[in-house]
Amino acid sequence: MLSALKQHFGFDAFREGQREVIERILAGRDLCVVMPTGAGKSLCYQLPILLRPGYGLVVSPLISLMVDQVQALTARGISAAYINSTVPVRERGAILDAVVRGAIKILYVAPERFRIEGFQQVIERNPPSLFVIDEAHCISQWGHDFRPDYLRLGDAVSSLGLPQVCGFTATATPMVREDIARNLNCPGMEPYVTGFQRPNLAFSVLECRTKGDKRAALERLLQEPAPTIIYASTRKNAEEVAAQFDAICYHAGLPDRTRAAAQDRFMNDPCPILVATNAFGMGIDRSDIRRVIHYNLPGSLEAYYQEAGRAGRDGTPAKCVLLSSYQDRFVQEFLIDLNNPPVELLQTTYDIVARRAVKGAPVALERLPELVPGGSSAKQVETVVRVLEKFRVVERVFSHGRTGTLRFLKPSARLRETHAHCSTQRSFFIHRCIGHLGGRADGPIAITVEELGWISGLGAERTERVLEALQGSELDWQPPVRGEVVQPVDPSAKTLELDLEELRRKRAFDLERLELVMQYTRGRDCRQRVLIGYFGQELGSWRCGTCDRCCGGSDSLHAAREPTGRERVILRTILEACLELRGRIGRGKLALLLGGSRAEQMTTGYRLVDHPRHGALSTLSQPEIRKYIDALQTDGYLAETGDPKYPCIDISRQGSEVLEGSVELTVSLPAPTGEGRASKAKRARGVSVSEAPLTEEDGDLLGHLRTLRAEMAEKKGVPVYHVLTNASLEQFARVRPVTVEEALKIKGVGPVKARTIVPKFLEAIAQRRHDTIG
Ligand code: ADP
Repeated sequence: MLSALKQHFGFDAFREGQREVIERILAGRDLCVVMPTGAGKSLCYQLPILLRPGYGLVVSPLISLMVDQVQALTARGISAAYINSTVPVRERGAILDAVVRGAIKILYVAPERFRIEGFQQVIERNPPSLFVIDEAHCISQWGHDFRPDYLRLGDAVSSLGLPQVCGFTATATPMVREDIARNLNCPGMEPYVTGFQRPNLAFSVLECRTKGDKRAALERLLQEPAPTIIYASTRKNAEEVAAQFDAICYHAGLPDRTRAAAQDRFMNDPCPILVATNAFGMGIDRSDIRRVIHYNLPGSLEAYYQEAGRAGRDGTPAKCVLLSSYQDRFVQEFLIDLNNPPVELLQTTYDIVARRAVKGAPVALERLPELVPGGSSAKQVETVVRVLEKFRVVERVFSHGRTGTLRFLKPSARLRETHAHCSTQRSFFIHRCIGHLGGRADGPIAITVEELGWISGLGAERTERVLEALQGSELDWQPPVRGEVVQPVDPSAKTLELDLEELRRKRAFDLERLELVMQYTRGRDCRQRVLIGYFGQELGSWRCGTCDRCCGGSDSLHAAREPTGRERVILRTILEACLELRGRIGRGKLALLLGGSRAEQMTTGYRLVDHPRHGALSTLSQPEIRKYIDALQTDGYLAETGDPKYPCIDISRQGSEVLEGSVELTVSLPAPTGEGRASKAKRARGVSVSEAPLTEEDGDLLGHLRTLRAEMAEKKGVPVYHVLTNASLEQFARVRPVTVEEALKIKGVGPVKARTIVPKFLEAIAQRRHDTIG
């Protein structure tokens, strides 16, 4: 195997997991291999194919991936080819002939190929030595990139008698793996998860409350030039951030040429910064990406690891930073809603598709949004079609579009009579057509304009004009559709029967995945360990040693302290008040209301003094109440609404679910004052807080800094640990930073603090130094 590796690929050694996978494949096993992007999956199936007689068939979802793979193989002297929609029809046959002749060793195809009977027949007669499904997660509805065409592959596996089937993916949780095996009709498929550890990647999470925080964080992160990808969750965000940082922008809404140019620049510029949506990335082969920053929360940890994993493929250190903000949760919830359409919409869309099919005029995917009532967006309708495809009730087929559908709107006998005189071109057309079509003229007729032109004797051009003139009065003409059309799988099925439980489960699954992302941002364990654990790789006691958790650095102010029983009551009271007030007041007023304030603003306008919750938390101080409101907001139970300049606070869906009892309340609260949570965490790990006792001078400075902290806290109306924890304060006294950069190295100091409070502390330290020297 090693000599084959050297001979065909020129590599001296296998990478982690490659040898084991290849051995298992050569032993004839059906495998579902899960290896991260860049780990070298392709070689795992290419080498066994080369070592065996016959050819290998690889299904790949993206044209660009196929092109890259085939180019790379050809450059190594391995005969490979691909067939997809970009290959002219006449060449496709020649490629298949070459495969049959044994002149091609590895054939890449797009999954749509399996729609075509002729192709299937060739494969059935000449089965490949190995059938590979690349990006196999696309077959799973639970995967983040479900592609209905992949579902056909299961039928192909069963009906074509393919001897050995292996799926490869970078992203498959145990649940997705099971789905892959089931949908491929390969119950014996063995999972093999390997190679997820990426010790050169340093993961971290920066908590950013506002857009301003995010901007500051990016400014700091981008200070040093290095190839960087910034992922944003929407096109609008991508454009905004790209404009702010004069970076390259990439998303699926840009014209093809702009996208290609963006990709080109990204590949060729020595230090590009590219801001993109998740449309960017598959097949990107740039190994020296030093930073992948997520500007918004991703929808799932698998999507996150896949995207973040594009950093540092060359094995040298790289950063993966997630800018976490609770507001992003709502964007993701919106996307979950979009991806899980209501049953009524599924029903209506299906009815339209089925009705049109009965008329013999399948509807173009493009036109479907106009036909679905209620102003559904194109994106929403596309999702609806995807869900219906998943249930295998509709399918998309490619229409080459020469045949339209003609239907006369009146009985043919009557029309023939009315138009017997042929005094106009229109009458002439109807008369000739009905005469020619006979009894067929009473039902829908699939026919081309050319044929109609020939039948009527008017020619194609004049026929088009006549059809237009008669449309809606005497006849209904559905012109030919070119491109993708949607049609029912079973045209006789008039009603739609969906598995509602399955729909519910899918939605719950999506929400759960999002919750895991939230937990990742708040978690205290090694970041990479959490991510890898999600994929199901066994890790023993392994820790990455490079993430913010392993290195003890964090920009979050929030500790993972669970609320006590009493605190739960407080938190629920706040939620209930917000539910009743429905976003009518801001955070400050809410705290005053709950605290029972009788300030002027409580007695005017809504007269909050009369509200039933007035004084509900009167035993707490204002900063305490605000602390609980903050915590609920940070963890997504409350959300800001209204004018962003004067935001009001409202209960979120997640918050309502807590009150309904369907979701458990899990809030991270700041550690109690007097004991910084950093010290607590360290103590829990058995590390002493102070590496060495403070010197007298340090102690002196610390006292001074403490006073400064108290003053700042008072001014802001927050507890002192919101300004800086005791542990961070001690570090300030010990390290005595001179610059903001130095201060940023202190645990608990993030970009926001760097701008707001750090300068004052630096000033105090400098003053002290000056005094001492003086
Ligand atoms: P994946 O499909 O897992 O994302 P690829 O198969 O595209 O990754 O491989 C990533 C890169 O690693 C490719 O450039 C490939 O040539 C290289 N590679 C794969 N295996 C080895 C190896 N054993 N030694 C050196 N380079 C390798």
